[in-house]
Amino acid sequence: MKKIMLEEMTWPEAKEAFSRTDVAIIPTGSIEQHGHHCPLGTDIIIARTIAKRLGEKLGDVIVAPPVSYGFCEYHQGFVAVSVPNEAFYLTFKGIVDSLMKYGIKYFVVINGHGGNKPNIDRVSVEIRPKGGLLTHIQWWETVGALDKKWLAVGHADMIETSAVWACMPEAMRMDQAKPHEPIPLTDEIEILAPSRIRFRGQIMPVWTYTHEATRTGNFGDDPNTGSREIGEEALSTLVDFLADYVKAFRKIKL
Ligand SMILES: [Zn+2]
Repeated sequence: MKKIMLEEMTWPEAKEAFSRTDVAIIPTGSIEQHGHHCPLGTDIIIARTIAKRLGEKLGDVIVAPPVSYGFCEYHQGFVAVSVPNEAFYLTFKGIVDSLMKYGIKYFVVINGHGGNKPNIDRVSVEIRPKGGLLTHIQWWETVGALDKKWLAVGHADMIETSAVWACMPEAMRMDQAKPHEPIPLTDEIEILAPSRIRFRGQIMPVWTYTHEATRTGNFGDDPNTGSREIGEEALSTLVDFLADYVKAFRKIKL
């Protein structure tokens, strides 16, 4: 069987793979707290697993090694290893530019961390004039759009917990999982996430540290309602959908 993981190829194998395909899948994530029950690498573990399964399903693509670090300073009151936005952007841009030199034209980014989105978007706009096309998937948004029962409502919530459980069961500490414990901000303002507060029913954008907003680190619905089986079902539905999507995406004429 031909290799699809770029890091496992020799250079002649990589050159041969580049001559066969013009599609690369790149997982991106972050190293940050995900409550008492999920590993720090949750975002990249999920993205990496989706990328690998998608690559194996498609066969004729290259899966690049992950960009594991992103900007996540707002989680550092718990534990997070953050890199500046510029560092993520330049690293990601460098990877895309390098792959384009070998004939990759279609980029499929599986993103696990919301904080990476604007930086990926910036590269997406910049590569079009160079002859490339980049689509990026926020896995939790797509999975929630495929079925409302998988809608993401927070951080280390039911669906994220289930997804990482399916990817790396040995890293889970479900015996430690706690429901979201918000820290009240004022009598009138309720915190929903580090980026959102609610005032008289209206959701207003804001930005704060996660440790100022939650006692546990997780937001949203109770992670105890999740399961490994839910994660498996959601991820396999997502990978099936993405396989069809990538087949259609690569037909766009460049
Ligand atoms: Zn996450």
